[in-house]
Amino acid sequence: MNDAIRITRAATKKAKPKDSELGFGTVFTDHMFLADFKEEKGWYDPRIEPYASLSLDPAAAVLHYAQTVFDGLKAFRGVDGRVRLFRPAKHVERLNNSARRLCIPLLDPDLALRSLVELVGLEREWVPASVGTALYVRPTIIANEPFLGVRPAKSYIYYVILSPVGAYYLEGMNPVKILVVDKYVRAVEGGVGAAKTGGNYAASLLAAEEAHRSGFTQVLWLDGVHRQYIEEVGTMNIMLRIGDEVVTPPLGGTILPGVTRDSALTLLREWGVAVSERQIGMPEVVAAARSGTLSEAWGTGTAAVISPVGELSYRSERIVINGGRIGELTRRLYQEIVNVQYARVPDGRGWTLEV
Ligand SMILES: *Cc1c(COP(=O)(O)O)cnc(C)c1O
Repeated sequence: MNDAIRITRAATKKAKPKDSELGFGTVFTDHMFLADFKEEKGWYDPRIEPYASLSLDPAAAVLHYAQTVFDGLKAFRGVDGRVRLFRPAKHVERLNNSARRLCIPLLDPDLALRSLVELVGLEREWVPASVGTALYVRPTIIANEPFLGVRPAKSYIYYVILSPVGAYYLEGMNPVKILVVDKYVRAVEGGVGAAKTGGNYAASLLAAEEAHRSGFTQVLWLDGVHRQYIEEVGTMNIMLRIGDEVVTPPLGGTILPGVTRDSALTLLREWGVAVSERQIGMPEVVAAARSGTLSEAWGTGTAAVISPVGELSYRSERIVINGGRIGELTRRLYQEIVNVQYARVPDGRGWTLEV
């Protein structure tokens, strides 16, 4: 689909919040991107319109059987004042991989990329400038066919909304306390764990609520079969530094293939750090903590970039990592990625796309 993107401008513009008042995901910009899909037409009518509610039939398939996928990325205002998306092509590729698993028709990657660039370009005034702030970009596909039978829907909407978000680390990076859960599981091999699809997040809420009630910020999921191998944390992938090596679970279909995970692995390899994408069980983590070789742990994800882990709580075991302080690689990865995002250093890897 090479159609031109039709633009209808909003008659009035919303007041923009101050950078210091920004949280996450509560404020939306003046416009949204939309395209429709019908079986006989494919994707059609790509357009930018004033931000507005969607009209859905109560029988719309997404509302009953959760045929939906999304992605999440950010646009940053660099120190030079220019606006750049971080690794948008990689996010588009993942959106299509998620779509394939949910029997949702794939988007033309060029059109999907154009939807992000054109919408963010039109809304560039909404990209905040303060350190740590960004414009969060949420592409989403939902099945909107009114039909209660269980089969892939025949009509869909692709839309993109934008939300200015505040600095994740207002009071500086703070190591988090994480509960290792073995009562619930997030995914099993052959399931939908590798797809960014709504149901995965609904299914994760109860474990997260119970963890919050016990004073933990996040949940570390274990594999669904042995309930032993570490998988990922909330909406972040996880990495552990054990001895001279960084260990992270492999992309075996049960964890989300994080773009930040990929960026971190790329940097570590460039720096000559030994990296191992392999299964790692909790007994090994506990043993490494006891012998003093577990020196750092961090989560990776678009929201926080790099999130230091200060403590893991597993059954009766309390594993304090690096005395609860931020580790050296944790800090270095965070700095390097953020420097590229805000164009404080040249982007030698083609990670950013100016809009
Ligand atoms: C989005 C997400 C991640 C992180 O992916 P990024 O591309 O780095 O933002 C990790 N795990 C889950 C479950 C996620 O939804």
